[in-house]
Amino acid sequence: MPLTDHQQQRYLRNTILPEIGEEGQEKLLRAKVLVIGAGGLGSPVLFYLAAAGVGNIGVIDDDVVELSNLQRQVIHSEKNLGEKKVVSAKEKILALNPDVNLKIFDLRANRETLKKIVADYDFILDATDNFPTRFIINEIAHAEKKPLIFAAVKGFCGQVSVFKSYEKNNPCYACFNPNIVDEKFSLPLSEKGILGSVAGTIGALQATTAIKEILGIDENLVGKILIFDFLKNDFRKVSLKKNSSCKICCHS
Ligand SMILES: [Zn+2]
Repeated sequence: MPLTDHQQQRYLRNTILPEIGEEGQEKLLRAKVLVIGAGGLGSPVLFYLAAAGVGNIGVIDDDVVELSNLQRQVIHSEKNLGEKKVVSAKEKILALNPDVNLKIFDLRANRETLKKIVADYDFILDATDNFPTRFIINEIAHAEKKPLIFAAVKGFCGQVSVFKSYEKNNPCYACFNPNIVDEKFSLPLSEKGILGSVAGTIGALQATTAIKEILGIDENLVGKILIFDFLKNDFRKVSLKKNSSCKICCHS
């Protein structure tokens, strides 16, 4: 559908980019993106996806807003304390861009719930903060053949990657973390401390990576991971290989 006058103005700084144009903007408006987690990563991710005009966004989270969240989870405010995060996030997203068709899921992502929900989406963004959920998301993304835009943060460090392990020779998240695929790790990374602006930076990178995936432009991050250490100012891009003994993507 061609852009309305309102949309032409709203997304002008997108559409004048030759990599996007009106055609790219229409792709963004048609895109269906599932964001798992409305916390430290989810906050910038949701704001930037909505602002860019990603037209259909699902958000999964079962937590309530707590005071200690607000140091990094900038989509929530003090007035939202005690509210469900998905409800608080919905209010902010629709205030920013009422054009977004936003669906909220007040539940914890597990195999059963996730499998049903991802069927309606084309891209999955892992914005969670704990290993067990990450492995479940990876498993479902692989089984359901959905691109997984991954990000993680801890302290002053962060990582961003894209997994399409259902395509030949591409690794999955478990390929390079095989020792913890048994879900023994349960401490949320957020409990280990995280600088809010680091979550903001990595979340913005995750949103940019998702937008590039939707548009299908330029170099992607499949089989590569960006690793950031903001204390050391060390930023790297590392290749990831498929692990032939991976329990998720190499079983037959
Ligand atoms: Zn794998």
